[in-house]
Amino acid sequence: MSRERVKTLIIGSGPAGYTAAIYASRANLSPVLYQGPQPGGQLTITNDVENFPGYPKGIMGPQMMMELQEQAERFGTDIRTGFVTNVQFNEDGPHVATVNEETEIEADSIIISTGASAKWLGLESESRLNGMGVSACAVCDGFFYRGQDVVVVGAGDSAAEEAHYLSNLAANVHLLVRRDEMRASKIMQERVMKKENITIHWNTETKEVLGKDAVEGVRVINNKTNEESTIDVTGFFVAIGHKPNTDIFKGQLDMDDAGYLITKPDSTQTNIKGVFAAGDVQDTIYRQAVTAAGTGCMAALEAERYLVELED
Ligand code: NDP
Repeated sequence: MSRERVKTLIIGSGPAGYTAAIYASRANLSPVLYQGPQPGGQLTITNDVENFPGYPKGIMGPQMMMELQEQAERFGTDIRTGFVTNVQFNEDGPHVATVNEETEIEADSIIISTGASAKWLGLESESRLNGMGVSACAVCDGFFYRGQDVVVVGAGDSAAEEAHYLSNLAANVHLLVRRDEMRASKIMQERVMKKENITIHWNTETKEVLGKDAVEGVRVINNKTNEESTIDVTGFFVAIGHKPNTDIFKGQLDMDDAGYLITKPDSTQTNIKGVFAAGDVQDTIYRQAVTAAGTGCMAALEAERYLVELED
């Protein structure tokens, strides 16, 4: 196994990782960034991004990520394909990350920006129509369904929030809840129930998303009566939770029950000195590209300060 020593290692290539890379390379930290299994992250499976400041006409998700990569490269970030399969954090440094089971990177500081992945139902029709009416982000894609009918699947705070957000854009929102109660907080449930254009379908599960090149409807089943029916919609939003990509950090970094990394308040510092976390991997609330980029910037600035202290 080959070994290499770097000042700053960035793991992950979403808006948090690339923003950290831009700042870290401009601060002469000579960052090395590994892109991970999905170069560009979640935005590469989105179509138009219309809410990232600075793009008045919107931009395609993959295009935006290419531009962020280009910007990081312009300042000298060493961007590499490959993913980190193992880490060993050492309080007294350096930290060691194993890449593709063939290279060991010793790093004085590490910025973790491995993101989170939306959970999906796992239906063939759902993945086939992903980006063509199937979405896991109402804030990203809701705008395209103005005046149309949509389905939201889920019963937690995310589903309640997404249904409520969409109800201000769409004509009608159908919320599919698999049990006879919602997990969402009372206040969120009340908010949803108050909206006249949200219909809650209790004990209802999705059998199939209908449509060839675009969503045309959803075939559902009532799991109490076994009765099947079709709801005519053009949008299908899945809001059954996210899974942070933190498996390789278990046992070393503090995380909450859902696996999100815990950082110090107003900081990206984890419980290990020199290890910072930015973006969705530590964000249970906002999960936006712009907030991820913001924390990526914070992580690079904090890494820079940490490295100065280390040298002293
Ligand atoms: P949760 O894990 O809280 O809820 C997931 C929901 O999806 C559950 O109701 C679950 O149903 C349902 N679900 C899971 N799998 C399926 C499936 N295969 N088919 C149908 N339904 C399914 O995730 P959230 O993303 O909603 O929330 C995560 C955390 O973030 C929570 O702590 C939440 O409070 C917080 N949050 C807070 C917000 C706020 O305060 N504004 C906004 C968004 C999230 P079941 O109940 O039957 O298990």
